[in-house]
Amino acid sequence: MNYRTTADGSKRVTVIPGDGIGPEVVTAARRVVDATGVRIAWEEHEAGAAVFKRGLPSGVPQETIRSIADTRVVLKGPLETPVGFGEKSANVTLRKLFETYGNLRPVRELPGVVTPFSGRGVDLIIVRENVEDLYAGIEHMQTPGVAQCLKLMSRKGCEKIVRLAFEVAVAQGRRRVHCATKANIMKHTEGLLKKTFEQIAPEYPGIDAQHIIVDNCAHQLVRFPETFDVIVTSNMNGDILSDLTSGLIGGLGFAPGANIGNEVAIFEAVHGSAPKYAGQNVINPTAVILSAVMMLRHLGELEAAQRVEDAVTVTLEQGVYTRDVQVDGSVTTTAYTDAVIANLGRRPAEAAPAREHKPLRLPEIPSSPDYVHAARRRTIGADIFVESPHAPDELGRSLEALAEPTQLRLKMISNRGTKVYPAAGAITDCVDHWRCRFVLRDQDADLSDDVLLDLLQRVKSQHRWMHIEKLSEFDGALGYTRAQGED
Ligand code: NAP
Repeated sequence: MNYRTTADGSKRVTVIPGDGIGPEVVTAARRVVDATGVRIAWEEHEAGAAVFKRGLPSGVPQETIRSIADTRVVLKGPLETPVGFGEKSANVTLRKLFETYGNLRPVRELPGVVTPFSGRGVDLIIVRENVEDLYAGIEHMQTPGVAQCLKLMSRKGCEKIVRLAFEVAVAQGRRRVHCATKANIMKHTEGLLKKTFEQIAPEYPGIDAQHIIVDNCAHQLVRFPETFDVIVTSNMNGDILSDLTSGLIGGLGFAPGANIGNEVAIFEAVHGSAPKYAGQNVINPTAVILSAVMMLRHLGELEAAQRVEDAVTVTLEQGVYTRDVQVDGSVTTTAYTDAVIANLGRRPAEAAPAREHKPLRLPEIPSSPDYVHAARRRTIGADIFVESPHAPDELGRSLEALAEPTQLRLKMISNRGTKVYPAAGAITDCVDHWRCRFVLRDQDADLSDDVLLDLLQRVKSQHRWMHIEKLSEFDGALGYTRAQGED
C-alpha cells in the first residue's frame, strides 16, 4: 500500500497548488474528488515561485518534503521554472528527490473535442523515464564559449522504466509496447534503453514489443496515431513526444500525468503554469482532474475514479467547453468544474468502453548501486579535453611530442565530435574545445593512473585541459564511441 491514512481512515494526500493557473486547476480537481465522497485528508504545502522568491534555491521547502515523505501521494499544480539561468526546476527536484522514475502520460480521444485526429480512436500512454538522461541537469561550461550537458543513462534506470512500461500494458490491458530511442546515433545511452527493452520484452510474450527510432515515432504519431498503445522512452524524448500526443487529442488542457516511484507518486498535468491565464478563471481544468483520476486509482478508489472519468466525458458530450476548445459560448473554469460534479454518476453515451484497470505492479529491482558487474575490464586510453586557440595541426604536433616519452600515443583529435587530426580532408568549423584521444601503445596492456597522470602533467605544461574521460573495455566490448571519421 503506497499511501497512508489518518486515524479516521481518510487517505492522506499532500497537495501543492503551484504557480500561475495552478491554484485554479488544483482547486477544481479537489472539488471534484471531494464530491465523489472519497475521504481525502488534503495537506496543503507550497513549492515553486514564491519559495524561490524567498531565497530558497531548490524551490521546495523542508515542510513540503516532510509531508510528501509522510503521505507518499501528491496532487500537484504546475511550478514555474526560470529559463536559461538561475534556479533549477522545482518540478524536476521533486521528481528526483522521491525517485519517481516513471512518468505516465496517457492521452485518449474525447467526445466533442474536435481535432484533425477526431474519429481515429487515439488512446495511448507515454511511459517516460523521469530522473536520468539530460534532465539530470549535469551541465558545465567547458570553455567560455562551449557548454556541455551530460546525458547519463543507467542499466538500472532503463530496466525500471522498461519493466514499468510492460506492467502498465498488463494493468491496462494494452497489447503493444513501442520503445522509442535515438540508438542509431547515441549507441551507448539510447542504445542501452533499446538493448534493455529487447532483453526484457520476451518476459511479456502476450505483448507485441517493437523498437522505433524516436524521430520516426514523432512522424508516425502524426500520421497513424491509432497504431500506438504504450510508448516507452527516455526523459527528454518523452517530454517532447508527450506534448505532441497531447496535441492529438485537443491540447495540454486534456493531458494528465503521474510521476510513479516505488515509494511516492506525484500526480500532475503535463501542462505548465500558463502565466498569461492566471487568475482569469478561463483555463481548462480537465488535465488536472484526469490526473486526480489517476491518483484515485493509485489510492485503490477504482469506482470513484471511473465515475470522475465518465463525468468528464459526459460534460464534454453535453458541449460544455472552456475557451481552449471553443471561444464562443465557452464557460469558466468554475462552471466547467460545477458541470463535471453535477455529472458524477452519469454514463457517457458515445464514449469507447471504459478500460479495465488492474492494480499496477511496480518493478522490483535490487537497490544496490553497482547493479551491473563486468567479468573483465580494462582501460585502454583516455580522452583529454583541451581548451586551445591553436589550429588542429599545431595542437596535434605539440601533443604528439608531449606524449612521445610515455606509454601512450595521440590517436586523434576531434572537434565537436568530428576527427580533425590527423587531417582527413574534412571541412570543419572548429571551436576552442578539443577532444584529444590517447591510447596505449601496447594493445594488450591496462592503463594505470600513474601513466595517465604523467601524461596529464606533460599536457598541462603547454595546454589548458578541463576534462578527462578514461576509455574502457567491459567484457571485451568498447565502452566508448569513435569520433565521426575515426577508424
Ligand atoms: P504551459 O504553461 O504548459 O503553457 C503553454 C500553452 O499551453 C498555454 O499558453 C496555453 O496555450 C496551453 N495551455 C496550458 N495549460 C492549459 C490548460 N490547462 N488549458 C488550456 N490551455 C492550456 O507552458 P509554458 O508556457 O512553456 O510554461 C510556463 C511555465 O510553466 C514555465 O515556467 C515552465 O517552466 C513551467 N512548466 C511547469 C511544468 C510542471 O509544473 N510540471 C510543466 C511545463 C512547464 P494557448 O496560449 O494556445 O492558449
